[in-house]
Amino acid sequence: MRPTGPLHLGHLAGALRNWIKLQEQYQCYYSIVTWHAFSSEYQNSKEIKKNTFEVAADWLSIGLDPQKSTLFVQSEIKEHAELHLLLSMIIPLPWLQRVPTFKEMQRELQEKDLNTYGFLGYPVLQTADILIYKANVVPVGEDQAYHLELAREIARRFNRLFGKVFPEPQIMLTEVPKLAGTDGRKMSKSFHNSINLKDSPEEIQKKISTMMTDTKRKRRKDPGNPDDCPVFTLHKAFVSKSKREEIIHGCQTAEIGCLECKQIIIDTLIKKLASFREKRKIYEEKPDLIWEILEQGNKKAREKAISTMEEVREKIGF
Ligand code: SF4
Repeated sequence: MRPTGPLHLGHLAGALRNWIKLQEQYQCYYSIVTWHAFSSEYQNSKEIKKNTFEVAADWLSIGLDPQKSTLFVQSEIKEHAELHLLLSMIIPLPWLQRVPTFKEMQRELQEKDLNTYGFLGYPVLQTADILIYKANVVPVGEDQAYHLELAREIARRFNRLFGKVFPEPQIMLTEVPKLAGTDGRKMSKSFHNSINLKDSPEEIQKKISTMMTDTKRKRRKDPGNPDDCPVFTLHKAFVSKSKREEIIHGCQTAEIGCLECKQIIIDTLIKKLASFREKRKIYEEKPDLIWEILEQGNKKAREKAISTMEEVREKIGF
């Protein structure tokens, strides 16, 4: 996860919920990818460390468990950079030029100059992040599936050229619900429209109360269509199925008003995030504990990365 700001509901619904479950079944490595953040935030690089702390505090408070998973900071494991460099020497340029997210992110983050060598190589660094731990499985949403396919192709190419080191990582496709932000566009840090995990109950109340709804539902007595309503994307991700069915019926028949409907999701989120908020407060009071937990994770990750790189160098012939 890129440390570019506080984590929001999109991260919870699209990744964190799943990661918490996975740590019961797999040996998981979760990384705060500081160098990936730097590739787009290089003009604001001082923020990365602060945001690393924020992400770690969010992770620990939501339920990622350092006893079960390795939680670490990418830039503390220099071997990622070495593998990235070596892989970049063997990747044909067109493999990167055809990556669809390259153009997409450039479009999304127009205020930033992303026409850089490092940004083009973003998927190579991602591949290094995966292969260095010899990951068998990587949980990703549909939008990242192409990157994983590329990582598999790169692993195959390396193994063919130098001998087998890397397993081909399998994709574990996870459903990433499309959550709308407060302005109706996709919830995203870059659009400044997100509802953050650490928002207070008052902030959650304020942000959702002022959110757009189905624009065709102008008056209370007009029926609405939840499929055209940004607020309903939140219900879909966080409210029980039976409650959702009630809302769909209530909206389509105008039995329920938008204020009442919004209050359902506001109350659900405030309740759902109550224990998160309590834990986060405790962590915020003990910043050293967070850095200490990350340092322990860095140590574990580093051992594995060092051992993989010894193999890589030997196979190449250095
Ligand atoms: S009732 Fe709910 S789902 Fe329907 S338009 Fe209003 S906020 Fe959206």
